[in-house]
Amino acid sequence: MIFTRLAIALLTHPAPGQEPGASLQSPSLETAGGGAAPLADFESLGLCRPLLEAIVAKGYTSPSPIQLQCIPAVLAGHDVMAAAQTGTGKTAGFTLPMLERLRHGPHARNNIVRALVLTPTRELAAQVAESVAAYGRFLDLRSDVVFGGVKINPQMMRLRRGADVLVATPGRLMDLHQQNAIRLDRVEILVLDEADRMLDMGFIRDIQKILALMPPKRQNLLFSATFNPSIRKLATGLLHNPVQLQATPENRTATSVEQVMHPCDMARKPDLLHHLIASNNWQQVLVFARTKHGSNRMAERLIKEGIAAAAIHGNKSQGARTRALAEFKSGAVRVLVATDLAARGIDIQQLPHVVNLDLPNVAEDYVHRIGRTGRAGQSGHALSLVAAEEHELLRAIERMIGNPLPRLEVPGFEPTILSAPPLDLSGGRGKGGSRGRNGGGGGGGGSYGGSGRGGNSGGGGRGGAGSRGPRSAAGRSADAPLRRSRPA
Ligand code: AMP
Repeated sequence: MIFTRLAIALLTHPAPGQEPGASLQSPSLETAGGGAAPLADFESLGLCRPLLEAIVAKGYTSPSPIQLQCIPAVLAGHDVMAAAQTGTGKTAGFTLPMLERLRHGPHARNNIVRALVLTPTRELAAQVAESVAAYGRFLDLRSDVVFGGVKINPQMMRLRRGADVLVATPGRLMDLHQQNAIRLDRVEILVLDEADRMLDMGFIRDIQKILALMPPKRQNLLFSATFNPSIRKLATGLLHNPVQLQATPENRTATSVEQVMHPCDMARKPDLLHHLIASNNWQQVLVFARTKHGSNRMAERLIKEGIAAAAIHGNKSQGARTRALAEFKSGAVRVLVATDLAARGIDIQQLPHVVNLDLPNVAEDYVHRIGRTGRAGQSGHALSLVAAEEHELLRAIERMIGNPLPRLEVPGFEPTILSAPPLDLSGGRGKGGSRGRNGGGGGGGGSYGGSGRGGNSGGGGRGGAGSRGPRSAAGRSADAPLRRSRPA
C-alpha cells in the first residue's frame, strides 16, 4: 500500500487543563505525497529485530505518517489520541510498539490479559487480530481474539492460558468477564480502535464497565476517525496528557480516485447498477447500500441476472460474513453489497470500483467508502447513484469534499423525478426525527434543478421495510431502515 496524500499534524501535549483534542490542528509536517520530508526507515524507530523481520515479511518498506508519529510516542510510554481512519496504517501504528513494550515484561498466564484492543465490530476485531499475529509472528507472545456470534466455550478454554494481547468486541468481553474467563486487573495497555463507531453503536456503558475493571495505571491509546464532543468527553476521562496525532487525507478525497455521480430515479437504481456492471464487465465491485434489506435485495437481483454477488450486514451470521468476504477477495464473488457498518474494518482497500447505491447518511462516510478504491499506481473509480430524494445528502458531501461531483447521465436511465422530499433518515424513531449530521432540518424537497422537466414527488421509492439497525445514535445508523418522509 502506498501512503500518499497524507498530511500529519501532530504531536502536541495539551497544556495542563486543556481538553485533549483541542489542539489537533497543529502545524503540519508534510510527508510522502505531501512532498516534503522523506519518510524515516522503520529501523530508526526503535523496534526489535523480530518485529522488523515481520515488517519485511509484510512487504512494507517505509512507515506511514501515522506510524512515524505513533510508534515513538507509544514506545515512550505516552497515552495517545489519534485522529486516523482505516487506510492510514493505524493498526501497525499501535500494534508494533505495543508488541515491543510487551516483549519486555513477564508473559500472560491464568486468564490474565496484558494488552486489550477493543473494536466496534467483529470484522475489525478479526482483522486487527490478524495484524497482531502477523506482526508478532517472530515473538514469543500469545495473542487471541474474541467476539460474539460464535460459541463462547472455546474462547473460555483458550483464555485460561491468558493473552499478552486480546482483541475483543465489548459485548463478548463483558460476557467472558462475567463468566470469570478473563482478568482485566493486570491490563498494561488499552487500545480503543474506531472509538467513534463504538460510541455510535451504543457501547459507551460497556466501555465504562470495562474501564472500571482495569488498573488505573496503564497506557491508553485512542483511535477515532472523527472527534465529536462525545469522543472528546471519553478522551478527557481516559487519557493522561496524551500525545495527539492526526492523519487525514490531504485533499479529503484521493485525487487518484475518479469520482462521478449518475443521477437516476430511486426505483431504477438496481437496474442501473446491473447495467453498469454488465456493460463494463467489472469484475470486483464493492457496493454500499443504506439498509440490510436493500443490500439483500440488490445481491439477490444480481444473482438472478447471473452475476455472482453477496450481501454483508448486521443480520448475517459471522460465518456468512466471513465466507462472503473471503469469496469476494478470491474473486469467486464479483459484487459485494454492504452496509457501512458491515464494511467498516474490512481490509479491502484497493478495489477498482466502489459504488454508492445509496448515498451515506453521514458525509464523512463518503470519504471512508471511496477510500477503498484506487489501486497503487492506478486510478480507482467511485461512482454514486443519486436520486432526487438524496439531494441534501449530495450537497453535504460536496460541501465536505469542497467540489461538486461530476454529474453524468447514463443514456436510458435519465431521471424522471427531479424534485422530491428528502429521505427520512430517522431510522423509524418517530416522525420528523433527527436527520443526522447531514440533515438540513425539516426542509423542502431536494431538486436537481436544471432541465425543467416536471417533478413527481410521489413515485419511485425503494421503501425499506425491515428491522432496526444495531444500537446507534439517531441519524447515524448505517444498518437502519430507510423510510421516506411524508411530502411537506
Ligand atoms: P490500517 O489503516 O491499519 O487498516 O491499514 C491499512 C492497510 O495498509 C493494511 O492493508 C496494511 O497491511 C497496510 N499497511 C500498514 N502499514 C503499511 C506500511 N508501512 N506500508 C505499506 N502498507 C502498510
